[in-house]
Amino acid sequence: MAASARSKKKAARSTGAATHKKPRAAPAHKEPGLLARLEKGAVICAEGYVFELERRGYLQAGAFVPEVLLEHPEVVEQLHMDFVHAGSDVTEALTYYVHREKLRVIGREKDLAPMNRAALGIARRVARRTGTLFAGDLCNTNIYDPEDPGSLREVERIFAEQVGWAVEAGVDYFVAETFSWTGEALMALAAIRRYSKVPAVMTLAIHREEVTREGHSPAEACRRLEAAGADVVGLNCHRGPRTMMPLLKEIRAAVRCHVAALPVPYRTTPEQPSFMALTDPCCGNQRAFPVGLDPFMCTRSEIFDFGREAFALGIRYLGVCCGAGPHHIRALAESLGRHPPASRFTVDMSRHTIFGTDKRIRKIMTDYRPKA
Ligand SMILES: [Zn+2]
Repeated sequence: MAASARSKKKAARSTGAATHKKPRAAPAHKEPGLLARLEKGAVICAEGYVFELERRGYLQAGAFVPEVLLEHPEVVEQLHMDFVHAGSDVTEALTYYVHREKLRVIGREKDLAPMNRAALGIARRVARRTGTLFAGDLCNTNIYDPEDPGSLREVERIFAEQVGWAVEAGVDYFVAETFSWTGEALMALAAIRRYSKVPAVMTLAIHREEVTREGHSPAEACRRLEAAGADVVGLNCHRGPRTMMPLLKEIRAAVRCHVAALPVPYRTTPEQPSFMALTDPCCGNQRAFPVGLDPFMCTRSEIFDFGREAFALGIRYLGVCCGAGPHHIRALAESLGRHPPASRFTVDMSRHTIFGTDKRIRKIMTDYRPKA
């Protein structure tokens, strides 16, 4: 078969929505899978790649489409490596917002398949090199409208084709994340169940109101996702540790399956419970989202405390979402008593020039401590 004919056939197979055929899966991976690891203890999943790549100057805030995948794949690969070095057990393909609707908005729909395949290829390479789990990723489509059959058909197509590419790449499991509608999350889960055989981690993102867009409590939405076959249910994004924790307690009590918790690393409050709601008093109380959130950033010790509290509640799938840097993931790993490679450089003030206690530090410096 000529190369072009083969790639056309491959492309046709990839758009599973049109044919409703199961995509051909890559050979199964032999490492302990997600569910086996969760039975033994916590699984840490770094998320928030889009925010971190925006800070590094490789994609634009607003659209938040990871165009960097084709332009600087080496930067994405290094970011995955940085998060694994800091303690992530998972390398999640950066297919967040690499769906048909988002690429249409930025005029790059023709790059849909190459970008998905690039993201999956990079993540698989890092996962297999590092022994981490290789996760596929589905997310909010931003067109879901329960009253509009045309939008539902398009959502179905978006999920089917993204599941197809991920299955071809051999993902170990799926993350389906950042849904504000239970209905949309259920559609993503249905696509995973229909076109793949791997586990599904389903996480909802809760805005200011403590309900999904159709009015379900997070606990009720998670109960429905569990009933529909999700392996892990919970929350990601939007809320910081302080305003996510009360909802997590309700979810933990409402379901039997494993629970996921991946807050944003921002100091959200009961008055401004999501990072989109935060306003900055130093800047005329303007909305801080998305590029003025720096003064609200959680410290490493806040993430450490969150990890400890969540694990004590019986929540085993843990991570940090938009805004997370590798230092947050290291703090989370250390909260579970782990010592990832990056922990070699965890702070040790005993050697500090002024605050240190090491006997080799000169007295002329330590005497100056009260004035430092
Ligand atoms: Zn996020």
